[in-house]
Amino acid sequence: PTVFIWFRNDLRVTDNQALSAACEHAKTVNANIQAVYIVTPAQWQAHDVGSRQLDFIRRHLQLVARALASLGIELTVWQCQHFADIPALWQRQLSSRNIVAIYAGREPELNEIRRDQAMLNHGLPLQLTNEHCLLAPGSVLTKSGEMYRVFTPFFRRWREIAQQYPVVPLGPPAPVGPAIADVNIESLLDTINRYFLPLIKSDNHYQWPAGEGEAQRRLQHFVFTAVSDYQQQRDFPALDGTSSLSPYLTLGVLSPRQCFAALLARFPAALADDTSPVRCWLSELVWREFYRHLLVAFSALSMGGNFNPLADGIVWRNHPQEFSAWCEGRTGYPIVDAAMRQLNNTGWMHNRLRMVVASFLSKHLLIDWRWGERYFRQQLLDGDLAANNGGWQWSAGTGCDAQPWFRIFNPISQSEKFDADGSFIRHWLPELRHWPLAQLHQPVPEKSLFTGDYPAPIVEHSSARQRALSALAVLKKA
Ligand code: FAD
Repeated sequence: PTVFIWFRNDLRVTDNQALSAACEHAKTVNANIQAVYIVTPAQWQAHDVGSRQLDFIRRHLQLVARALASLGIELTVWQCQHFADIPALWQRQLSSRNIVAIYAGREPELNEIRRDQAMLNHGLPLQLTNEHCLLAPGSVLTKSGEMYRVFTPFFRRWREIAQQYPVVPLGPPAPVGPAIADVNIESLLDTINRYFLPLIKSDNHYQWPAGEGEAQRRLQHFVFTAVSDYQQQRDFPALDGTSSLSPYLTLGVLSPRQCFAALLARFPAALADDTSPVRCWLSELVWREFYRHLLVAFSALSMGGNFNPLADGIVWRNHPQEFSAWCEGRTGYPIVDAAMRQLNNTGWMHNRLRMVVASFLSKHLLIDWRWGERYFRQQLLDGDLAANNGGWQWSAGTGCDAQPWFRIFNPISQSEKFDADGSFIRHWLPELRHWPLAQLHQPVPEKSLFTGDYPAPIVEHSSARQRALSALAVLKKA
């Protein structure tokens, strides 16, 4: 008999419940254990998974293959185009081997849930574990048994429940046999490259090293040196004030339990103490869980629906040239353009700026938030349906517990407040390097010697604001 561990967005061997359960099961029934990863190019394209994220997956997968090999577990890689092809793929395996169980981590997105349901409908022995959140979706509910629609009471209830259980990550499983020979690993790494490299177009700048070791190093460094200052520093994009863990959390190279455990090891009162200095970072990790719970509770979110049905009445302008200018960092608003260039160059953007550029696109330009969500997904290394959809709908005012529709970020005052000395703008817009600080936050009205070919603003702030207020007034509660 064979027990399978199927890796998806849980590319780690430590604190991997599915892997540990598979090893345990194999030991109990004296079965072989086999790991698998399934490459699904057409499905990834349909989900707008970006080239940078695919390269990040490729690099992590190679390290997972090595780590598994040292435990005596062989990883194989299969390919099919769509999730819909997967049950048949497994059934072909089932007929040639005696598969007694397939372990995998549950995922919150609708197509992923349907894929797993189809496996079960085909009678495949899929066993799902909960790992993408500390508390599984559906376990944090109001007194009447519903999903919360406001974050603060969700956070309160989440903490009450989390305090009832010890937060103890699992170690790696014990080896199941002798380590696999190097020559076999090399050929597996070639296979991974063969499947992935044709899908990868953009260069990755290797600012983001792969692997669990790197994720753990970042986590420990942040928890030991920076988490207490997070609340004061997190809004300034020129500072290194946030953990930079999102790409690792998104692909499951790091588990949320490992994050909470590292935090609680150093600040044991963080869950109970309302005045804890690390409360702010804790709440961001719980926002991540909130959006995942919402995705499971409201399947329309996975299909691009507005959370607030009133938002279906918004008439978007959807101007294609203005959208291109936003994507390329040519709006004429320095903070917006600097942020978009950070995204285009590195695959990551600071949270404060994600809010600024999302508000600018959906409110100043009145372009459908789904266009921006999609562009982010294609560019981001941490592109994640739950957090991205949550962030976009929050910014556009269409979401659950969202920014009110009439609150419109002023890109000039956001810039003055959060990049006061202009260092972030000067870094990403070298053409404005010599522009005086007094004018650096403002759109540049006319080209000059100092500003080179930096563009004039594509909209004027006050009139764009008025236009947004009238278009978004459909969100006014009756
Ligand atoms: P930290 O500030 O150190 O926070 C720790 C972790 O908490 C993050 O790694 C992340 O996993 C989680 N987190 C923090 N803030 C949020 C939040 N607002 N919502 C959900 N989770 C959060 N995050 C993604 O992981 N993937 C996305 O695709 C994504 N798209 C976004 C789009 C928009 C428009 C907005 C406004 C936010 C988006 N975020 C997304 C949330 C947030 O911007 C990033 O998680 C954060 O910038 C990552 O940096 P960090 O790891 O240093 O975070």
